Amino acid sequence: MLTDTHTHLYSEAFSEDRKEMMERAFEAGVKRFFIPAIDSEYTNAMYALEQEFPEQVFLMMGLHPTSVKENYEEELAHVEKQFEDRNFFAVGEIGIDLYWDTSTLEIQKIAFKRQIQLAKKMNLPIVIHCREAFDEIFEVLEGEKDESLFGIFHCFTGTFEEAQRAINFGMKLGIGGVVTFKNGKIDQFLNQIDLKHIVLETDAPYLAPAPYRGKRNESSYLALVCKKVAEIYGISEEEVARVTTENSKEIFDI
Ligand SMILES: [Zn+2]
Repeated sequence: MLTDTHTHLYSEAFSEDRKEMMERAFEAGVKRFFIPAIDSEYTNAMYALEQEFPEQVFLMMGLHPTSVKENYEEELAHVEKQFEDRNFFAVGEIGIDLYWDTSTLEIQKIAFKRQIQLAKKMNLPIVIHCREAFDEIFEVLEGEKDESLFGIFHCFTGTFEEAQRAINFGMKLGIGGVVTFKNGKIDQFLNQIDLKHIVLETDAPYLAPAPYRGKRNESSYLALVCKKVAEIYGISEEEVARVTTENSKEIFDI
């Protein structure tokens, strides 16, 4: 059984063929799907997805860093309201993204910090989105570091040193399609990191693994990520699937 720890199945990219896409994932052995939030525009779509697949789909709630804009206080209030109304499995995805917009760095930091504190208060994991912002992310984590801080560094694409830093903050590394890229780099040191720190993800519909690089990604392609990780570690795909699913259970507590 494979667990996709990060997949945007509610995305409009799947509105034409969501059922078929889910069937392909089930057939590929992907049985559990953890669903990161983006912003309030997608909340209803996430709840609809959960209603359609209540046994397989597990929702997170949070404000994505690229959605941190002038109205971020309202968006954070929306996030807090959802947590008052019902349960989620993580606060995510949250973090800092300096690829799309550097002008919002200060409010991105505020939103990230506030949501980390929310997660800690509720004893939930955080799911971190980091793009061109390792130093800024680590700076915020440094200020929040304690035994209640844990989670996943989603779509990890850093160096070996950055991987070790992330693990020291109580994070697992979310490994996805990038591990199959020729210039993805993480394949060169991944086997030096204990598999107990790794979870698998697609980030569908983004970041499709080879040979689908550049196309729409979907959760069935998690099998390709698993195959590549098994190659890198020199162990069977079954072992990778088993250990990474165990790791996801430890993080999400289900
Ligand atoms: Zn994502």
